[in-house]
Amino acid sequence: MQRRNFGRNQVLKPSAFYTPADEQEILQILDRHRGQRIRAVGRLHSWSDAVLSDDVLLDLRRLNAVQLHSEGDQLVAEVGAGCQIKRLLKELNRHDATLQSLGLITEQTIAGAISTGTHGSGRHSMSHYVEGVRLARYDASTGKVVIDELSAGEPLQAARCSLGSLGIILSVRIRCREQYNVKEHFTETRRLSHVLDAEASFPLQQFYLIPWRWSYFIQHRREDDQPRSRLARLYRIYWLGVMDYALHLQILLMERVLRSRRSIRFSFRHIVPAFLIRNWKVTDRSSSMLVMKHEAFRHIEIELFVPRDQLADALDFAQETIEVAGGRQSTLSADNQQRIEGIGMQEDLARLHDQYFHHYPICVRRVLPDDTLISMASGSGQDWYALSFISYAKPARRAGFHLFASFMARSMSRLFHARPHWGKICPLEADELTALYPRFDAFRTICNTLDPQGVFQNDWTTALLEADIP
Ligand SMILES: Cc1cc2nc3c(=O)[nH]c(=O)nc-3n(C[C@H](O)[C@H](O)[C@H](O)COP(=O)(O)OP(=O)(O)OC[C@H]3O[C@@H](n4cnc5c(N)ncnc54)[C@H](O)[C@@H]3O)c2cc1C
Repeated sequence: MQRRNFGRNQVLKPSAFYTPADEQEILQILDRHRGQRIRAVGRLHSWSDAVLSDDVLLDLRRLNAVQLHSEGDQLVAEVGAGCQIKRLLKELNRHDATLQSLGLITEQTIAGAISTGTHGSGRHSMSHYVEGVRLARYDASTGKVVIDELSAGEPLQAARCSLGSLGIILSVRIRCREQYNVKEHFTETRRLSHVLDAEASFPLQQFYLIPWRWSYFIQHRREDDQPRSRLARLYRIYWLGVMDYALHLQILLMERVLRSRRSIRFSFRHIVPAFLIRNWKVTDRSSSMLVMKHEAFRHIEIELFVPRDQLADALDFAQETIEVAGGRQSTLSADNQQRIEGIGMQEDLARLHDQYFHHYPICVRRVLPDDTLISMASGSGQDWYALSFISYAKPARRAGFHLFASFMARSMSRLFHARPHWGKICPLEADELTALYPRFDAFRTICNTLDPQGVFQNDWTTALLEADIP
């Protein structure tokens, strides 16, 4: 049975496929397929090779129970691995609770979301809040199928974001919080310093660099004690109708139908800004405010995480590279040209010239450092900023985007320590990726201890675990 991911850039051809009903059935499947390679997937919303599997494949959608309880002064939910975030939010909301952090969509499963470090803005990634993971695997000495609870130390830090490489996650214990409201409004500025200054007042904000207009739209957000606004329902209709559908249909029209660079530039300069109502201040429930229907139209994405002290340079570099890739400029500024020469990528830049016309706002989200081994925001230092580059080109016409994504990942990882999102397009070699994570070696040790035969790996994770560490 063949399965494809959301982005239609990955095809899975497992030799056996199961949707087990409970833990007992999973243990039986593991027993039956001893010695074969076994992977689990969530809702296949990753674009990276993390989802690939060519042998036994498990989909745990039927393990979706949610139980909420208090541990001391903390709210903790025990969630079946295959439970989608949207179902989890609904269940939590019945108890006036919610998740500590959320990505832009709620289609993912809890196990899938944490396994690639899914994040939103202004908080840690979801992985950081994981308190425990129940895992099915083989015991190294007896070969018998066992269930472990990873709930402390490096095993927990590894399980918080593990790329499916430790075993089959059965359930996740995750810290929750009481439900809260978020107030938001949009403003526009040309200065990054204005955007960053606003963080003190709006810690949950995210912002968008608008291509070809080159200004920033800031989605100012903060927690709010006020009740839901009177116009909150109207605001939701506006978001769904105007932002999620009309804006995206317009982008699809330009990119897929007209295929005109001139109209894309004109649109981002003059039409897209008109979709955004500035200074309309609305308070609504966090789980409504923080998400959108970004899954409505098929697309592909690379997201690069840079530390805060690299953000300004990284954004300038991205803007200039987009101009070169779009054929609007033939070279970068003197500073950036020098950077590219310093890493010997002049010819790559020349090859990118005029090959890809960017056509989507670059969303920038702040992620607080995670207590994990390898999530993109792992480490105890600065905040990270995730820059996303999205293409709505038809799957058959993505060559330009892939060239661009590869150039961005290779140059920005060397120039700005940029880490590609594990679940999105990830065009670096295994040793380039692992070199970005100071604690990758500890992650490797946990994987080798829990899965010494490598049965829970695919080719991509095997290469990561075998990569040289500098
Ligand atoms: C439209 C769209 C919007 C997105 N928005 C965001 C966003 O705002 N922020 C963000 O950070 N990411 C975002 N993503 C990326 C997405 O959150 C991640 O790729 C996530 O991992 C997908 O979850 P999934 O349930 O589909 O898992 P899959 O993609 O199916 O799997 C992801 C990984 O989890 C592993 N896995 C899944 N279940 C298990 C299990 N039971 N046991 C062991 N391993 C398991 C798989 O092996 C794989 O390695 C978005 C993706 C899309 C398509």
